[in-house]
Amino acid sequence: MDEQVCRRCSRPVSAPARDYEIFEQMHYVCFHYEFEHDMGSGATDVDSDCGIPGCPSGLMPPVSPSSDAQQALRDITEALRDPYSPDAWRVEPHGPAELTMIRHGRSIRVIVADVPPEQS
Ligand SMILES: [Zn+2]
Ligand SMILES: [Zn+2]
Repeated sequence: MDEQVCRRCSRPVSAPARDYEIFEQMHYVCFHYEFEHDMGSGATDVDSDCGIPGCPSGLMPPVSPSSDAQQALRDITEALRDPYSPDAWRVEPHGPAELTMIRHGRSIRVIVADVPPEQS
């Protein structure tokens, strides 16, 4: 089998052959920045989330947060819960590291991520 090489960055691509073809013989990330990231606005900085779900520049919820991080999310959910107040946030969990707070038609995403010790 020929080695898959990305047409944009010239590095090897480890994705399955099917994905390699779907993304026009590029990494998913390279494909995104080549074709998708600039679309809407025409000038989205590569460091900024372009709004397309899965944009690599967006904050990615961790797949397996630590038990401390998951507990923090439960604590937040519990702290926000107030069935007696019309102004209370409604909280919807999304996976182990993410929740959405909803109030008065506005939604706010909360993502917990473990920070490496040297950054805290
Ligand atoms: Zn690439
Ligand atoms: Zn993007």
